[in-house]
Amino acid sequence: MKSVNAFSTLCAGLTAATLLLTSQFAIADRFKDIEISATPVAENIFMLTGSGGNMAAVANPDGVLLIDSQYAELADKIRAKLSTLSQGELTTLINTHMHGDHVGGNAALAANANIIAHKNVQLRLSNNANFDPAGLPKTTIEQTTTLQHGSTTLILEPMPASHTDGDILIWFPEQNIVHMGDLMFQGRFPFVDTSNGGNVQQYIENTRYVLSKIDDNTQVIPGHGELTNKAGLAAELSMLEQTLAEVQQMREQGLTEEQMITQGLGEKFKSWHWNFITEARWIRTLYQATQPQ
Ligand SMILES: [Zn+2]
Repeated sequence: MKSVNAFSTLCAGLTAATLLLTSQFAIADRFKDIEISATPVAENIFMLTGSGGNMAAVANPDGVLLIDSQYAELADKIRAKLSTLSQGELTTLINTHMHGDHVGGNAALAANANIIAHKNVQLRLSNNANFDPAGLPKTTIEQTTTLQHGSTTLILEPMPASHTDGDILIWFPEQNIVHMGDLMFQGRFPFVDTSNGGNVQQYIENTRYVLSKIDDNTQVIPGHGELTNKAGLAAELSMLEQTLAEVQQMREQGLTEEQMITQGLGEKFKSWHWNFITEARWIRTLYQATQPQ
């Protein structure tokens, strides 16, 4: 209790300095109870969850490869979890794209590792004054690239801009796994970041493309949500197509954006609503996407 009282007294001043301290306290607090979990996907390959985008690790005995890094505040916990999976050093970090919940831990976790990302990720992060340069990608790709990590083969495939303009898919051809980054939000409306090159139509096209490449045994690691499969991705595509068609239809009926939000997308899509991309926000995204050129 003593420290709580001391903290309250400190806040009573409400100077700029104490406000800053308060916000830092809130950030630290936000991650306090987060635990990193590792779900086995194949031998030495794990999906890792904590807070933010789903990570994956290839935990070979002689070295660890990590896909995405969540937040700097979680770096110690992520490192501790990785050490239970392999004694090897973290040698390689791949970023699926540039969002803070996927690259925030880059410097804290992987300053000494090779960091690989789409060229546009490097461009956007190097223009972000708040991003620690120690976490910038060192190797950038613009074309499909095969990477060998010990005995594990990965294929890094840059995609036409859809979630952002720096998205890559990461395939594990031998294990029949794909990490889709935020080209998939499992069971929820997706975020299409139009201010960073995102595009709804291309997001749908990219979803169709991945579906055409996988089979019923493929394990799909989404950027957010549970480990899933072809049926899960097909359900997402169906939602994308149907909600886009609904908004298009409401447009043809002459509804305004606000009227569309009042009407909603119907009971069928209620479960796809979540705190980040609410039904209203998804309708706004689709409204923009169906704007006549
Ligand atoms: Zn994202």
